Amino acid sequence: EPHRPGNFLRGIIERDLEAGTYAGRRHAGSPGDAAHHAGAPLDAAKIRTRFPPEPNGYLHVGHAKSICLNFGLARDYGGVCHLRFDDTNPEKEEQEYVDAIVDAVKWLGFDWQGRDPAHPETPVEHLYYASDYFDFMYRAAEALVTAGFAYVDEQSAEQMRATRGDFNTPGTDSPFRSRTPAENLARFRAMRDGQLADGAAVLRARIDMASPNINLRDPAIYRIKRATHHNTGDTWCIYPMYTYAHPIEDALEGITHSICTLEFEDQRPFYDWLLDTLCTLGLLAQPRPHQHEFARLNLTYVVTSKRKLKQLVDEGHVDGWDDPRMPTLVGLRRRGYTPDSIQLFCERIGVSKDYSWIDYATLDAALRDDLEGKAPRAMAVLDPLKLKLTNWAEVFGSADHLEPCHAPAHPHLPELGSREFTLGPEVWIERDDFAEQPPKGFFRLFPGNKVRLKYGVVVECSGCEKDADGRIVAVLATVVPDTKSGTPGADAVKVKGTITWVGVHEAVPAELRLYDRLFTEAQPDAGGRDFLTVLNPDSRRVAAGYVEASVGRVMPESRLQFERHGYFVADSKAHRTGQPVFNRITGLKDSWGK
Ligand code: ATP
Ligand code: MG
Ligand code: MG
Repeated sequence: EPHRPGNFLRGIIERDLEAGTYAGRRHAGSPGDAAHHAGAPLDAAKIRTRFPPEPNGYLHVGHAKSICLNFGLARDYGGVCHLRFDDTNPEKEEQEYVDAIVDAVKWLGFDWQGRDPAHPETPVEHLYYASDYFDFMYRAAEALVTAGFAYVDEQSAEQMRATRGDFNTPGTDSPFRSRTPAENLARFRAMRDGQLADGAAVLRARIDMASPNINLRDPAIYRIKRATHHNTGDTWCIYPMYTYAHPIEDALEGITHSICTLEFEDQRPFYDWLLDTLCTLGLLAQPRPHQHEFARLNLTYVVTSKRKLKQLVDEGHVDGWDDPRMPTLVGLRRRGYTPDSIQLFCERIGVSKDYSWIDYATLDAALRDDLEGKAPRAMAVLDPLKLKLTNWAEVFGSADHLEPCHAPAHPHLPELGSREFTLGPEVWIERDDFAEQPPKGFFRLFPGNKVRLKYGVVVECSGCEKDADGRIVAVLATVVPDTKSGTPGADAVKVKGTITWVGVHEAVPAELRLYDRLFTEAQPDAGGRDFLTVLNPDSRRVAAGYVEASVGRVMPESRLQFERHGYFVADSKAHRTGQPVFNRITGLKDSWGK
């Protein structure tokens, strides 16, 4: 069990558990209510949280914070977390997004299963659609109208805006505010029955036009919108507003702790007003859910807005939602981030009410900490230059000789076994491991210098070959005899540099996709800046390199560390056995051999 530091939400939950706030609770909805989801029995969960995405795009790393928080609290306190599609907005929602969200939450390592108390062996799937509650929401709205808590306002949108007042000025009452409940009920039914045009009227809660909280100045709770809904089709031409729908969704599902981001803090008084009013009217039962807010995740060099991410995709700035540069969960997955690393990242950043930006390096550190102890090692050459060992035949007796080499698959995990490869008369090395004129402190190949070919032999550089344009096409060196790694006396010849390599005779050509940050500014959309103006033109580079033979056979989504180069993942779409394609997830903490 990882150590989980306390936070204010844990404090609230622990106090509620101690006080028995939610003990022995029944369905919040009225008994026998058809709107009450048949698949939603209250199980023995001690607390009930929910993750309520709107299915209008793919989930991003900000959502991961909310997922880890809500599912994590349920896990830690004997509760259950519901996955709820907040699909009350008919226009933007699609099945593709619903499916992708289900996949993403599962991939992150969570599920929405509870246990039916009557049949503890039977799992209950707590997956819901807010649109399944439209009937109840409508009836609750009629009840509000009948009790004088809501009215149909037929002012124009501008009139409503103008009479709402502002921070310093109280609002003024709509002329429609004094209609009788009977008149309002007739007009509300006319709205529902399609007798009014889109936008001709809204249903408003009747609270207080002079409230210091503008959200309590008679907020709209239903609007007219002729749009086909993915779940309810053309059944409705009126749809509930988010601020009205969300508290009801929570209450109907028996949510105990409704956790959301701080932008909704000002909505909490309405959340409370609505649920308390519906409890008073007998439509819902106490104890009802309570809303608690935390600070959203802002991650540097990333935008976390579905709308902006969709724009990157739609305008072709990236190669789809799962482009490895995208901060979507499908993008992070394709890039090679592990579910464990994302969970670890969310644990480390914690939750608070303080607005802040998290450095992207925090996510990379979590990835490294996760993979360091797991990922097998291998050698790869990203920018290949040929090294010719000119005395090979003399040292080994034949120009065809291949010298077997071994290396541990992982330096600290002997159980992962060893890698076998061979050294021959020609090997690929990194182009920048050779310098004709070495800069100060350069310990790798330059004429007259000795280096070790890792797991192989010490070689002494004698020069290089150039083409007609003066470009270096090969490096020349001689093998220093009796220096093979792992043989007695191999260390007698001291060298300051060790370089990685792959034998030309067995190297597998590989496509190595090297990604950098998508934006050149740490806060791409700060201060209203158009984030497209700070796209990094060099965020994707493709290297044609070589990898160890064994690496050519790994499965898609296998992660490994190429020594000196960082962590890589075999691409889930393009990688083929014998034709490897790797994405670099992130570099190594300390760049090696500088
Ligand atoms: P976007 O603005 O990108 O569309 P959203 O908040 O509208 O995001 P929803 O689908 O409504 O997206 O979000 C589902 C849940 O995820 C909400 O509870 C929301 O508070 C949470 N969430 C969204 N973005 C973040 C973030 N950056 N950090 C933490 N939680 C977030
Ligand atoms: Mg939203
Ligand atoms: Mg939003």
